[in-house]
Amino acid sequence: MAQTYPCLIDGELVTTDTTLEVLNPANEQVVGLVPACGKDELDRAVAAARRAFKSWRKTSAEERQKVVQGIAAAIKANADELFRLLTTEQGKPHAQAQQEIYGAAGLVAAQSTLTLDDVINQDDDTRLSRTRRVPVGVVGGIVPWNFPVMMAMQKIAPALIAGCTIVLKPSPFTPLTTLRIAELIKDVVPAGVVNIITGEDSLGPLITGHPDIDKITFTGSTATGKKIMEGAAKDLKRITLELGGNDASIVLPDADVAKVAEQLFWSSFSNAGQVCIAAKRIYIHEDIYDELSQAIAEYARNVKVGDGSQQGTGVGPIQNKKQFDRVCELIQDAKDNGYKFLVGGDVDPSGSGYYVPITVLDNPPEDARIVAEEQFGPVMPLMKFSTTEEAIERANNSEYGLAGAVWTSDPDKGVEIAEQLETGTVWVNEFMHLSPFAPFGGHKQSGFGAEYGIEGLKEFTYPQVITVKRNAFA
Ligand code: NAD
Repeated sequence: MAQTYPCLIDGELVTTDTTLEVLNPANEQVVGLVPACGKDELDRAVAAARRAFKSWRKTSAEERQKVVQGIAAAIKANADELFRLLTTEQGKPHAQAQQEIYGAAGLVAAQSTLTLDDVINQDDDTRLSRTRRVPVGVVGGIVPWNFPVMMAMQKIAPALIAGCTIVLKPSPFTPLTTLRIAELIKDVVPAGVVNIITGEDSLGPLITGHPDIDKITFTGSTATGKKIMEGAAKDLKRITLELGGNDASIVLPDADVAKVAEQLFWSSFSNAGQVCIAAKRIYIHEDIYDELSQAIAEYARNVKVGDGSQQGTGVGPIQNKKQFDRVCELIQDAKDNGYKFLVGGDVDPSGSGYYVPITVLDNPPEDARIVAEEQFGPVMPLMKFSTTEEAIERANNSEYGLAGAVWTSDPDKGVEIAEQLETGTVWVNEFMHLSPFAPFGGHKQSGFGAEYGIEGLKEFTYPQVITVKRNAFA
């Protein structure tokens, strides 16, 4: 019988009579059970968070910083156990799971150093006017399955630093590592300040609609993000939405083919392509298209797809059956339309585990589903372009606007192009780098608001302006 991982409500570890099974995507075996929380557990968690908010909001910045740093330390001290558990439930190779765990600890520690200082608006003989930031209250955090720990921590840390308390719901596909962290921080965080509850997707709308939650911070698909916005409108909850993307990379003819091939590969295939900011459309200048596409294909053929816990695995399985079916459908659509495959394309349905081979497509048309839709899998369409203007136009031709990249040996030219891309983040000659001190958020249908940095922190607060009239009764 698989182990049951309890939830954290009001400082107590809690289980329920009914549980949900969590599968290892590498072999479809049950690796853990988690509580199937419903309205009762949610109400208890929200009530605890509301009670805790009364005193937590009054703590000093230093006290809050200390608690948040305690969370980072607990993750770091148990990193070995946590990254192995993460691979077991999420599928990503050990090295990438390790990066996520250490990255989450680092992010939490970095976020703990952020402060929201008062701003003086006016200070003269007439009046003193000051803007301070006050916490919004109880936060509902909803998290996806691709980076379960990082996403949970990027919600918990700023919420606490801002003076809020939180009720967090992991994805039902990947709740185990987060619940293990809940156990580790039970005595680090005051009761009720952090509550973590698990349940089916149906628990999500209960959180969005809960009358005693003041703000929702959500990472997941654009479709769910729209439902959350609708649900939150009822009582005008504050919202932050980090949603899908269909990021484009533009490779100029002066790029160093040998060096760029490997980086482009990993910009698409890290975490089996299940990254919101993965490169999902690669536009390569026609002068270097043949050489670079061959170099990428060559590199791809040497990367092993397999169980993430096995040494030598570079790309793990797709995290869940639903996503596996979707990626297979997109590949089948490309086959049905006669698009050319440079690598992969043949999914082996026998055996257990949700494995999709590394798949690289050779110049499919712009309206191919595999180009126009977010694949969220180990798939990389390479497309040829002739002029920079054309590449920019094609890159911007998307409802999404999360991130993008430009590859060139002329960084000034790269920046000139970057400034014309309609996305929240653009890299020149690198990929997926996020700073805890810079805002991360999507343009267009990739999001609403931002996480990270001071801008992200502000989203957990309201501005309050206090104005004192001077010499009023003189
Ligand atoms: P999803 O939207 O299906 O689920 C995300 C979370 O929302 C889960 O916890 C789920 O249980 C919950 N949920 C489902 N229905 C809900 C509802 N009606 N109301 C409230 N909550 C609900 O997304 P996913 O499949 O877990 O994640 C993949 C998507 O997430 C991709 O589109 C990806 O691009 C996006 N993503 C975005 C970012 C970013 O920072 N922009 C990061 C990671 C993933």
